[in-house]
Amino acid sequence: MAYIKLDRKAYEFNLDLIASKIRSYEKIICVFKDNAYGHGAKDLAPIARAKGVNFIAVKNECEATQLQDIFDNILILSHIPNFNENDKFIYALNDKRDIKKIKTNTKIHLVVDTNMHRNGISFYEIEEVLNQIKNHQLKLCGVMMHFAGSDEFDGSYYVQKQNFKFVKEKVKKILGEESKKIIFHSHNSEALFRSSKLDDDEYCRVGLVQFGYAYFNQNLRKVLSLWANKISQRTLQPYQSLGYGGAYVAKNTINIATYDLGYGDG
Ligand SMILES: *Cc1c(COP(=O)(O)O)cnc(C)c1O
Repeated sequence: MAYIKLDRKAYEFNLDLIASKIRSYEKIICVFKDNAYGHGAKDLAPIARAKGVNFIAVKNECEATQLQDIFDNILILSHIPNFNENDKFIYALNDKRDIKKIKTNTKIHLVVDTNMHRNGISFYEIEEVLNQIKNHQLKLCGVMMHFAGSDEFDGSYYVQKQNFKFVKEKVKKILGEESKKIIFHSHNSEALFRSSKLDDDEYCRVGLVQFGYAYFNQNLRKVLSLWANKISQRTLQPYQSLGYGGAYVAKNTINIATYDLGYGDG
């Protein structure tokens, strides 16, 4: 038999680390897309909620529906407009052509492309798009961007960070008082621990770090582990081969074992 173990203490520890960086549990948006990266969204969601997290991001409405009783704020990252949006959820607006295809009064977060060139509206279209959102009576509740290479040692992170600063200033200038109701978020896992301090007006939107993975913070704890019973154990001498077709040949003396996991007999 094989099984997955989730470590509640490790998950809580990681959430604490994230919260200390952003200085509040309320400013964490936990990314639970794809079943919390395969960790089991339904198991982890109540733990996050008990810590004070009340904002998550998921892939689609199906995932959002499964967690709607736990969190008040659910952002859907990859929605395909259908004029039937749910007023309980918040939808990421990834393309300006979608403005006309979304039901009026729907809550949205505007995605701005600050140089990743994947999703979002161009930086230069902000004024025009804010007008269209208003004319179409969508409820703008947030403005966000995504980093292309926050885990790489090139300058793109700083360029995008700077671009988002301009975006925020522009949105605040255009919307004036109204912009006080809007939240801003840009930092994913690596960006969060890479930055020395986040601006006071920012939330973070983190996936991987919750589960214990980040190049820029080695103190995180792995939440998931995989266990299986051992079927057999032996020592291979140098040049002895292993398995079908002898595909592996030992270079040194090594211990090997088979486990009751996956396909067939281990
Ligand atoms: C997946 C995703 C995240 C989380 O990224 P991590 O690197 O796992 O923290 C944040 N924002 C968007 C838009 C995403 O698609």
